[in-house]
Amino acid sequence: MAKRLLVKVNEADNVAIAVKEIKAGTQVSEDLVTRQDIPQAHKVALERIPKGQPVIRYGVILGYALEDIEKGDWINEFMLELPTPPSVDDMKYGKKIVTDLPTPPVTTFEGYRNPNGGYAGTRNILGISTTVQCVTGVLNVAVKRIKEELLPKYPHVDDVVPINHAYGCGVAINAPEAKVPIRALRNLVHHPNFGGQVMVVALGCEKLTVEKLLDEADISPPENVIVLQEQKGFDAMVNAIMEMADKKLAILNQRRRETLPLSDLCIGMQCGGSDAFSGVSANPSAGYAADMLVNAGATVMFSEVTEVRDGVHYIAERCVSKEVCDKLAAEMKWYDHYLEEGNVDRSANPTPGNKKGGLCNIVEKAMGSIAKSGSSPIVEVLSPAERPSKKGLIYAATPASDIVCGPCQLASGITLQVFMTGRGTPYGLAAAPPVIKVCSRNEMKEMWQDLIDINAGPVATGEAQISDIGTELFNKIIAVASGKDQSFAEKYKLHNDLCIFNPAPIT
Ligand code: CA
Repeated sequence: MAKRLLVKVNEADNVAIAVKEIKAGTQVSEDLVTRQDIPQAHKVALERIPKGQPVIRYGVILGYALEDIEKGDWINEFMLELPTPPSVDDMKYGKKIVTDLPTPPVTTFEGYRNPNGGYAGTRNILGISTTVQCVTGVLNVAVKRIKEELLPKYPHVDDVVPINHAYGCGVAINAPEAKVPIRALRNLVHHPNFGGQVMVVALGCEKLTVEKLLDEADISPPENVIVLQEQKGFDAMVNAIMEMADKKLAILNQRRRETLPLSDLCIGMQCGGSDAFSGVSANPSAGYAADMLVNAGATVMFSEVTEVRDGVHYIAERCVSKEVCDKLAAEMKWYDHYLEEGNVDRSANPTPGNKKGGLCNIVEKAMGSIAKSGSSPIVEVLSPAERPSKKGLIYAATPASDIVCGPCQLASGITLQVFMTGRGTPYGLAAAPPVIKVCSRNEMKEMWQDLIDINAGPVATGEAQISDIGTELFNKIIAVASGKDQSFAEKYKLHNDLCIFNPAPIT
């Protein structure tokens, strides 16, 4: 297939994006000459757009021209007025239920079944939960020793991961929205990769008490909880943690992978460091893989409220019931209000890097972001960090911030994340280490050969189909989930801090 200079996504579009930088005065097509240099991924006007008229990409209005735009002009972030966001009242649901999904090459994977059912693990990890940040220093010393002295005895255990976080004390624990961080931390205790082994390190005087973090059934076995204030000094604390870890590791070491149906797999989709190609190459390829997974019975979550807000009516059309659509609307309203309280709106989302990558505003970013959800019906909508009750494509409402979305999806039960990027980020998750990076353009892959797992760049240049890269990604997901392959983030142990979403006040 021939390389192309411009990508136009929808017939109705009056702009296209530059596949590579185009110099001013370049004859890009029979009747189009660029009037300025067009940076890679940035938009060029395909026709004259008078002041006040819409600039259209993906067939939707990105904004209105603040001044006259001439044919061949470079369109940047300063030239558009943001449209008002679509109303979430009276959205139409069930109008676009697609059941003709791409056929997956396989319908099973090799995973770790869990004692209490639920999703299977993709890795076998001792997760050590904490009630409060105060214990982190001691726990980190103990974890270093556990890894050096104990882990080598248990070859079937992949890692030891402390669930360190900034929550737990000095917070308004009874504020209504405190339910979000508490739910996240409670659900993380039982992450599918942790094999049902509960281990908690507490301080003793914190607001997030052991009783608030754990179910009664998990508290009563004394071998599940260590309270540092009950230990006689530092050595005793570290010894107690190591002794408990030794017992848990011995149990986890019995776990083995089994061939399981893909309905036991739960993965998350996220993007970060997006550019204008993300919605053309990386995200649609991820959407294709998501459709294959859903067709095989798997659960796929996509998130990031501010990055779907401007396209929410398209998501509503894919909701299977009024109940699902109503919850979608409620989550959008909650977030609108949350942003209003901070005196901002969704326009605070695009980063300098997004803009450099040609995304001029949040509408453009959102339309590209939604593409990663493919075309499957949406069977459930979750509040941040909630556990799903259905299998299939799920909208899990979370902040768009990479390092906050990740822990929310982890708490919801994902055991693998697919991460699309245009600008590049070395992001990773310790509790679900298989984070697979998909980049949107060839230059990104060339720059980060050893960090990007899948290159969707050939879709942008017209040298590959979305189905080609989508199938490659599907196969990578299965191999990595099954432990037969590793993503680069896992190989190098690139682990971000767990930034637990806390919309409630800190005291
Ligand atoms: Ca993100």
